[in-house]
Amino acid sequence: MGVTTSARPALTETVQAMPPADRKLLETARSVLASRYAAGRHEVAAAARLASGQVVTGLHVEASQGRASVCAESGVLSAAAVAGEEIVGLVAVLRRPDGAEHLIEPCGVCAEILADHCPDAAVWAARRGATERVAAADLLPFRHVRTARLAPPRKDPQS
Ligand SMILES: [Zn+2]
Repeated sequence: MGVTTSARPALTETVQAMPPADRKLLETARSVLASRYAAGRHEVAAAARLASGQVVTGLHVEASQGRASVCAESGVLSAAAVAGEEIVGLVAVLRRPDGAEHLIEPCGVCAEILADHCPDAAVWAARRGATERVAAADLLPFRHVRTARLAPPRKDPQS
């Protein structure tokens, strides 16, 4: 198992491997980038399908201090929390300054929080020169889990 490098499959190859529902997520993320992309500011967009079928989106927000940046996947997770639903599928797209777009997997921080909140979500990742659909819980196979730190989900978000 190696670290993903900048050599990523072309988006057209990725699209062919996707079921229609995930293809819709990909196109939604691309449309967010088409309207909001700004080099060095908003370079990744993500779209997620919730349990009800609703689609929510997120956009990367760069910071002058790298660690303060917000990932598109984190934005999507927040939107899912606002909707009161769990994510069942997620696709993120990176746009490079030359206009080339690639599917991109969640970073380690996003993989952690996705595994906490939607471990069964189908997430698209680029690995070993190919793209594949994996469960969020499998993004970090040896992740450390601090039991008792994260409260269980509320059964009734209205109460
Ligand atoms: Zn991230």
